[in-house]
Amino acid sequence: METESSKILLIYTGGTIGMMKDYETGVLKAFEFENIYHRIPELSHLDCLIDSVSFEKAIDSSDMNPKHWINIAETIEKNYDNYDGFVVLHGSDTMSYSASVLSFMLEGLSKPVIFTGSQLPIGDLRTDAKENLITSIQLAALKENGKPVIKEVGLYFEYKLYRGNRTTKINAENFQAFVSINYPTLAESGVHLKVMKENLLPEKPKAKLKVWKEFDQNVAIIKLFPGITEKILNGIFNISGLKAVVLETYGSGNAPTETWFLKSLEAAIEKGIHIVNVTQCSGGSVILGKYEASEYLRKIGVINGKDITTEAAIVKLMILLKKNISSNLFKIRFEENISGEI
Ligand code: ASP
Repeated sequence: METESSKILLIYTGGTIGMMKDYETGVLKAFEFENIYHRIPELSHLDCLIDSVSFEKAIDSSDMNPKHWINIAETIEKNYDNYDGFVVLHGSDTMSYSASVLSFMLEGLSKPVIFTGSQLPIGDLRTDAKENLITSIQLAALKENGKPVIKEVGLYFEYKLYRGNRTTKINAENFQAFVSINYPTLAESGVHLKVMKENLLPEKPKAKLKVWKEFDQNVAIIKLFPGITEKILNGIFNISGLKAVVLETYGSGNAPTETWFLKSLEAAIEKGIHIVNVTQCSGGSVILGKYEASEYLRKIGVINGKDITTEAAIVKLMILLKKNISSNLFKIRFEENISGEI
């Protein structure tokens, strides 16, 4: 595998990776993106050509919303033919949502789009930003027989490349901030950069990039907990305009079997609200019907989220809701794998 002569576009959106400390207040603030080269002079030693573009205003990823996702996707779309790969610098807090949604938006993607960020600002002596950024660029630059090796949306953090739509942020402090429990790593960085080719999405022959840009944000996430009341649950299902819900259930997709609970879900589905069953466990899969506590959910038409993450499920809902499909087809489409998320 070679990296030479690859052209990479860095897309800087904000996050800790591009921040510096205001030493008077101790608060982290965004700095001009051009400073990234100043902070990481090693970038100019990499064997590839690197250009960069930056969000007009760098943001903390807590402020990410569909407009920003479209901004990232359009930047890739506009520059798609001129670059071999893309590295998106993004705050870690909502990086899994953005990596998931981009994996659905970039239909027909056949080049690498690698999300990365850091837990410590680039200027910090012990920063993890340098390794994350440099290796992400190297991964995006990898080619074999003149073609990119990675042809999907990945997330690189602390020596591991994951499939973006399989990740979850699990730690606010450790450098190892992300996990992908239900899918193995795509690449690992040690003495050698090892790509697990068998885990990568297969080549899509003659794929052409097409970017999806529509979202319906009338969605919600409900995390079940012992003691949840009928009033609260119905309060949510009665929100005007609500169209779909990710229901975070227990274990392999279990939920209370009390009549009021089941009636409330049934009424919501009858009203046309799509309910997706996703387990609140970090790993494993929903298996509807494994226990009585989930069999009824299957019968009333709850969508099986299988082993999808909540992050991928909520953004997949926002996109599918804009596809104008019947309720039955909606369930079928959601349960199908689009880009390796299930
Ligand atoms: N709050 C920051 C963000 O997500 C944290 C980070 O960059 O890691 O933008």
